[in-house]
Amino acid sequence: MFSPSQSPKPLTKKLLVRGKNKTIGVLALQGDFLEHLQTLRKIGVQTLEVRLPQDLEKVDSLIMPGGESTTIANLMDVFKLRKPLVERIKKGMPVWGTCAGMILLAKKLVQERPTPLGVMDITVNRNAFGRQIDSFETELEIKGLAKPMHATFIRAPQIVSSGAEVEVLSNLSDGTIVAAREKNMLVTSFHPELTKDTRLHEYFVGF
Ligand code: GLN
Repeated sequence: MFSPSQSPKPLTKKLLVRGKNKTIGVLALQGDFLEHLQTLRKIGVQTLEVRLPQDLEKVDSLIMPGGESTTIANLMDVFKLRKPLVERIKKGMPVWGTCAGMILLAKKLVQERPTPLGVMDITVNRNAFGRQIDSFETELEIKGLAKPMHATFIRAPQIVSSGAEVEVLSNLSDGTIVAAREKNMLVTSFHPELTKDTRLHEYFVGF
């Protein structure tokens, strides 16, 4: 074994991913957190499953996965994660919510449940495309990505309104907002972690 100073590593694509020295946490209470972890490992970043407040202290940024937002919100309260999570996000920790994660980051929901974290200036309508049978896939243009991304929507939410600070990153052809960013917060209605495309994960890691 060589020490790092004796053996400079070859410049591979992995090493070119900005922010690769960070630890990216994935909220691992329920939902498709494993797929996010696998994608992050594929691009060569360090990961940590976040279940408890002490896990949160060890990460530089956090992905909140898809799943069932009411269940994730309940578990967040059981594990006393809500308050520290809101505090970290307000202090600037990069956070990315996919699908249920997007619902949880919203300031307001059309539905009464769950109670979201209320940090991002968006109003979200859950299951806005209909029932499970209405899940669909499409090619999406996303601001900042040179080529479209294949996007999978599963009982997906829609952003129905957004504040002035929110930058829309992608719309469906009918205008529906399906990706947006506000400062350190990124949200997508769809699931990039379910495809082989790592570009959005690389974008987030570079925040
Ligand atoms: N329909 C789910 C909810 O309301 C979200 C679906 C998903 O994350 N794929 O929580």
